[in-house]
Amino acid sequence: MAQDTRSVSPTVRVRNLVRRFTLKGVLNGVDLDIQRGEFVALLGRSGSGKSTLLRALADLDREATGSGELLVPEKLSVVFQDARLLPWKRVLDNVVLGLEGGEVRERGRKALAEVELGGRENSWPYELSGGEQQRVALARSLVRQPELLLADEPFGALDALTRIRMHILLRRLSEVHNPAVLLVTHDVDEAIELADRVVVLDDGKIAADIAVNLPQEGRGRHARALDLRRQL
Ligand code: ADP
Ligand code: MG
Repeated sequence: MAQDTRSVSPTVRVRNLVRRFTLKGVLNGVDLDIQRGEFVALLGRSGSGKSTLLRALADLDREATGSGELLVPEKLSVVFQDARLLPWKRVLDNVVLGLEGGEVRERGRKALAEVELGGRENSWPYELSGGEQQRVALARSLVRQPELLLADEPFGALDALTRIRMHILLRRLSEVHNPAVLLVTHDVDEAIELADRVVVLDDGKIAADIAVNLPQEGRGRHARALDLRRQL
């Protein structure tokens, strides 16, 4: 029987990725695999090249030059720090933008309910809070059923309490829909709380790659989180 290679090949495969802008090298030989359904957090100092790597994966890096091997699925969605909703379209229209088919609006409604925005289909983006707008952006991504969700500091502009709510929501959605996730963040706690694996970008390369496996609760959880912080 022919082997189904798709079941063993990773969702993302990056080898020796180099990216530079006119004056400056940013990525200097990045190697990274992300497996199906894996939730990976990409940590790194501001300016370390996290967004450059994410943009390379999303094929949004026209300004950079470089080389290397890059394999990513076609079905990917990107969420940015700002929701980037079209202000002249209502919430549901933003969610299903560009999609076609009879049942699309129903799927959009369902996605909005999943991000706890059922009933806000006809609101305008300006009527929503920052956290609600990010939830619309998440719904817009999920309704496309991505195999890979790329998120670039998606909660960076939100207050701490809203952020915790978004963490719970994103983790739950990732378990239900099971895309591979690459979450870019500079927040160590966020990375440890959400991800199965934390990779650290430093000096243009992956400097650390750590499995998280936090216990669900109890004192062991706290000890493990502290232990992980020491390794970063
Ligand atoms: P991070 O997301 O980790 O904060 P970035 O990937 O945005 O870092 O940026 C990495 C480096 O590349 C920074 O020094 C930044 O100034 C530079 N850079 C990013 N985008 C561009 C661009 N379009 N043109 C020139 N330099 C850029
Ligand atoms: Mg960035």
